[in-house]
Amino acid sequence: MEGQVADAHGGSSAVGAERLAELIRESGCTVALTGAGVSVPSGIPDFRTPGEGLWEKVDPMEVAHIDAFRSDPARFWSFYRPRLQGLSGIGPNRAHEALAELERRGLLEAVITQNIDTLHTRAHSEHVVEVHGSIRSASCQSCDATYELAALEGLFDDEGVAACAVCQGYVKPDVVLFGELLPPDAMAEAEALASRADLLLCVGSSLEVHPVAGLPGVTLAAGGRVAIVTKGPTPYDGDAEVRLDGDVVAELDAVLARL
Ligand SMILES: [Zn+2]
Repeated sequence: MEGQVADAHGGSSAVGAERLAELIRESGCTVALTGAGVSVPSGIPDFRTPGEGLWEKVDPMEVAHIDAFRSDPARFWSFYRPRLQGLSGIGPNRAHEALAELERRGLLEAVITQNIDTLHTRAHSEHVVEVHGSIRSASCQSCDATYELAALEGLFDDEGVAACAVCQGYVKPDVVLFGELLPPDAMAEAEALASRADLLLCVGSSLEVHPVAGLPGVTLAAGGRVAIVTKGPTPYDGDAEVRLDGDVVAELDAVLARL
């Protein structure tokens, strides 16, 4: 694995992996912050990657917006239901597993994720903060009923709208749609973790979506360090102690091999 990384990046990545391993060893509290890029090797496209996104043919602001859910739930579900069904056959990859392994070894405090796919939990990470919610459950917007993902499919009516079994109200996945605020408890926990972190390990995120994009700034302001393992540029590249831009699986494997 080390050889592969060195071949692909002319050796510079091996140096970066060694440096990142060193930072993790030195850090008393390392927190990971993950985005869509960590799930790409599982087969979940990053909608910001041109030509690959499942948003290519639709305007996400139109179909995955809270206003769209409220005004035209059938249209919302015509987009979102196949997406949920597609996710059901997908599993965690070695990048998720590497982060779970770091936690098992006592080298990682928590994973803060923008991903809704639950793959960190399924890779057996214990402390996961899902700041955009997750597809694990769905809730009725009119009463307190909540439904597990597996039960959701049984709620759809003839128009393709998920209706509450108790009150017939609209049922919405417990994910943060465009136009919705992030869950305050998860955001507060993420900020506390970022502020406490000696090292914020950012993996597979372009660090452009606010307010999560502010978390590296929280770590830096508190005197912590930031490391970035992501393809493509981020606003924090100049502040990062280490910047690895190869494949997330190969990069994290290389780091793990050195710990
Ligand atoms: Zn209800």
